[in-house]
Amino acid sequence: AKADGRNTYRYYTDELTTLARERLVMEAKLRQALKMNQLECYYQPQIAITTGKIVGAELLIRWCDAEQGFIPPDHFIPMAESCGLIHAIGHFVLEQACTQGYAWLVQGLPALKLSVNVSAHQFSKGDLEQQVISILQSTAFPAHLLELEVTESALMHDKERVIRTMQQLRAAGIRLAIDDFGTGYSSLAYLQQLPLDLLKVDRSFIEKITSNDADKQISKAIIELAHTLRFDVLAEGVETAEQLALLKDMACDYYQGYYYSKPLPAEAFRQLLLQQVAN
Ligand code: C2E
Ligand code: CA
Ligand code: CA
Ligand code: CA
Repeated sequence: AKADGRNTYRYYTDELTTLARERLVMEAKLRQALKMNQLECYYQPQIAITTGKIVGAELLIRWCDAEQGFIPPDHFIPMAESCGLIHAIGHFVLEQACTQGYAWLVQGLPALKLSVNVSAHQFSKGDLEQQVISILQSTAFPAHLLELEVTESALMHDKERVIRTMQQLRAAGIRLAIDDFGTGYSSLAYLQQLPLDLLKVDRSFIEKITSNDADKQISKAIIELAHTLRFDVLAEGVETAEQLALLKDMACDYYQGYYYSKPLPAEAFRQLLLQQVAN
C-alpha cells in the first residue's frame, strides 16, 4: 500500500483540481445564465384547504442550460451561496415576483400572495430590508402580497439580528414564512419572538402522515402549536387525496403539492387562475 502512496496522492490532487475546475466552469455558466435571462421562475399554487381555491404561489427557480438541459435548484443554489452569486439571483427572483405580480393585478386577476425563497446568506447580509423595499417601490407591487420564506435552519444563526431584520420587514408590511419547519431545532421561546405569518410543514412529515402514526402525530402537534402562536400553517408536498383529507381533519390552513399542481411556468399558472375565476 505504501508503494502506491504517491500515486494515490497524485490521484487525489488531480481529482480535486478537476472538481475545482468544474466548479469554476459551472460558476461562470451560472453567471452567464443570469445575465442572458436563462433563469426562469416557476409558480406552484398554494391552496386554501377549506375553499379549495388558489390563494398564492411560491416562486421556484429553474435553470435551463443549452448543453446540460434542466439543472434543478438543489444543484446550483448551494454553489451560488458559496460563490456569492446568490445575492444577484435572490434579487432577480424578488424583482420577478413583484413585476409579474403587479402585471397580473393590472390584468385584473384576483390578488394573490407571492412567496419568494430567501437564502440564509441574503438574510444575514444586512441590506435585505432596503433591497426588498426598493423593489416594491419600483414595481408598485403591494407589500402585503409579498411573502418571504426563510428556512428554519437559517433562523438559527445570530438570532438577535434575525429578529431585528424580521421586525423591519414586517414593519414594511411584508409577510414572513418559516420554510421546511420541523427539520430544525427552533425553540418555542424563540419562535414566539418572531413576527411570522406562516409556518410551512416540511414535506418529510407530510410524505408519511397516512402511513406512519408518529409523523401523523407530529404534524398534528405542529399545526396546533402554530395555531397557538397565531401563525397560519401550510403543508408542503401534498401528493394524495388521503393526505389532504387528513390535513383537513387536522385544521391545516393551506397546502401545496403535486396533488393540486407541480410548479408551472408563469403563463400556465395564469391560465390555471383564469380557469378558477371562470368556475
Ligand atoms: P423548497 O423551498 O422546500 O421548495 C419545495 C420543493 O418541493 C420544490 O423543489 C418543489 O418543486 C418541490 N415540490 C413541491 N410539491 C411537491 C410534491 O408534491 N412532491 C415532491 N416530491 N416535491 C414537491 P424545487 O423547485 O426543485 O426546489 C428545491 C429547493 O431549491 C427549494 O426547496 C428551495 O430550497 C430552493 N430554491 C428554489 N428556488 C429558489 C430561489 O429562488 N431562491 C432560493 N434561495 N432557493 C430556491
Ligand atoms: Ca420554499
Ligand atoms: Ca420547503
Ligand atoms: Ca426544502
